[in-house]
Amino acid sequence: MDQPKLIEEPAARLARRIAHASRIVAFTGAGVSTESGIPDFRSPGGVWDRFAPIEFQAFLADPEARRETWRRGLHTYPVVAAAEPNAAHLALVELERDGKLSAVITQNIDGLHQRAGHSPEQVIELHGNAHGVRCLGCGAWSSRDAVHRRVLEGDDEPVCRACGGLLKPTSVSFGEPMPWDEVRRAERAACASDLLLVIGSSLVVYPAAAIPRGAVQTGVPMAILNATETPLDGLAGVVVRGRAAELLPAIVQQAKRRV
Ligand code: NAD
Repeated sequence: MDQPKLIEEPAARLARRIAHASRIVAFTGAGVSTESGIPDFRSPGGVWDRFAPIEFQAFLADPEARRETWRRGLHTYPVVAAAEPNAAHLALVELERDGKLSAVITQNIDGLHQRAGHSPEQVIELHGNAHGVRCLGCGAWSSRDAVHRRVLEGDDEPVCRACGGLLKPTSVSFGEPMPWDEVRRAERAACASDLLLVIGSSLVVYPAAAIPRGAVQTGVPMAILNATETPLDGLAGVVVRGRAAELLPAIVQQAKRRV
């Protein structure tokens, strides 16, 4: 039988770090999902090439910003809803099943880590998710699909049917308060880990990027797997440059063989 092909440095170094770790925390960004067909924000052809962000204050104050949010959602949400977990998401699930992964902290709003099979309490969403809509008045939740149906029927600025409050997707907008309970959970998990594995994040969005930075300051070793440079590369013990869905499964397999 053919021997599996061994991966090369620095991916091999990351495999060795994974082999020796037992409380890995993954910290993921949009790059872990690009190979599932969801564009990231900052790569060429990413979301910012097509749309300027709608700030939370504009959403609250300006009916046109709200109408634009729903119009945009009709184009962008179906891509997220139809996406399937890729080999990088599945490799992280394998680490959980092997008892080596204690949490996944994600900036992503696509829900693909949960869909890939993690236990729900293992996934910490720092920026909410795209699949729900919440009333900013009474807090009532609806599915994004249900609200999109109303928009498609001509209700271009839908409000809550119970209290008349503004409806907003449950993803966190720029300028919107963070879900602080999740941020605290993420900080605790990151600082208690014995390897913080950053995958597919530009590490320029704060306060999210303060979590890996803070964990490193408390002595947690960090590894970064990303397609391009990040401002925290200099703090990482291992930096692997490349595509997550191509590299992570091979790295995890090599870690299992402990070579
Ligand atoms: P980002 O767009 O700033 O950075 C993505 C990084 O991933 C880039 O550095 C890019 O080089 C790298 N990358 C792209 N494809 C990759 C691949 N296949 N393998 C490895 N690396 C790859 O995204 P971010 O750091 O997550 O931060 C920005 C915000 O983007 C977050 O707040 C998040 O909410 C939001 N976002 C999420 C999604 C999603 O849920 N899938 C999609 C777009 C944006």
